[in-house]
Amino acid sequence: MAQIIDGKAIAAAIKDEVKLEVARLEAEYGRKPCLCVIIVGENPASQVYVRNKVKSAEYVGMESRLIALPQTVSEEDLLDQICKLNEDALVDGILVQLPLPKHINEDKVIDTISKDKDVDGFHILNVGQLWVGKHCITPCTPKGIIHLIKSTGVQVKGKIAVVVGRSNIVGKPVAKLLLDENATVIVAHSRTEDLPSITRLADILVVAVGRENIVTGDMVKPGAVVIDVGMNRNADGKLCGDVDFESASKVAGFITPVPGGVGPMTIAMLMKNTLECYLDKENGK
Ligand code: NDP
Repeated sequence: MAQIIDGKAIAAAIKDEVKLEVARLEAEYGRKPCLCVIIVGENPASQVYVRNKVKSAEYVGMESRLIALPQTVSEEDLLDQICKLNEDALVDGILVQLPLPKHINEDKVIDTISKDKDVDGFHILNVGQLWVGKHCITPCTPKGIIHLIKSTGVQVKGKIAVVVGRSNIVGKPVAKLLLDENATVIVAHSRTEDLPSITRLADILVVAVGRENIVTGDMVKPGAVVIDVGMNRNADGKLCGDVDFESASKVAGFITPVPGGVGPMTIAMLMKNTLECYLDKENGK
């Protein structure tokens, strides 16, 4: 039976570390880090995510600002708001909750955020820096995934890591971070032939597809580390991942649950990224 990787507990410990660091830095520099979150419209899921982000910022002792804009806000007005925050010396991190309404170009919005305040790590310059191995803001979910893998004590170097999914926000960056850890990385996607024969190679298996039970126990190598990124609703409306936990946990060495695995880590890493942006600013980087 697999050992459960308790993302909730690991994330709580990280937030407590950040909290101590924030208190120490406030005493040293005379101000708190400040995270500004922008939400457009009233998407219920986005509202929950944003509330959790603001609550976490408050928990770790950061200043948080929430800017709620109507669904009908023009792209120009949104970009203006972001430019003002870019100029605001007291704001360290800016996050625009996605998705945005169809009339707004998401790429334009992301790339308008100053790359030094881009706490999500989605700005094209941060993405480029990540891929060439330079100092950058690392996207939160992939950063949290690497943290969870390391928490198992399993050595990543030299192992085969399979990432299922190749999105810009999870699959691709997590593959790059695993490469940085010297894993041998395979990226699978919707056109991959014979997915089970690929996933069975994995010493480390990261699944980020968004489809319930895309990975079942018979697709897992015995003893593997399995990270389930998926967040889906099953037929009963219950939150579930991409991996069939019941069967996979009988084969894997370590496995993340959903909920309580990757999700809480994303927010903990957001706190860490905000702190890093603050430190870079204070240290003139
Ligand atoms: P996307 O929809 O952007 O990407 C899904 C990926 O899965 C694509 O690369 C797609 O391939 C691939 N895929 C689709 N069908 C298959 C298949 N049958 N076999 C193999 N690969 C397939 O999703 P995201 O990366 O944004 O998110 C993935 C999941 O992770 C979602 O459930 C999301 O809610 C969750 N998530 C959770 C977070 C957290 O904090 N816990 C944060 C972010 C996401 P192709 O490129 O060929 O289309």
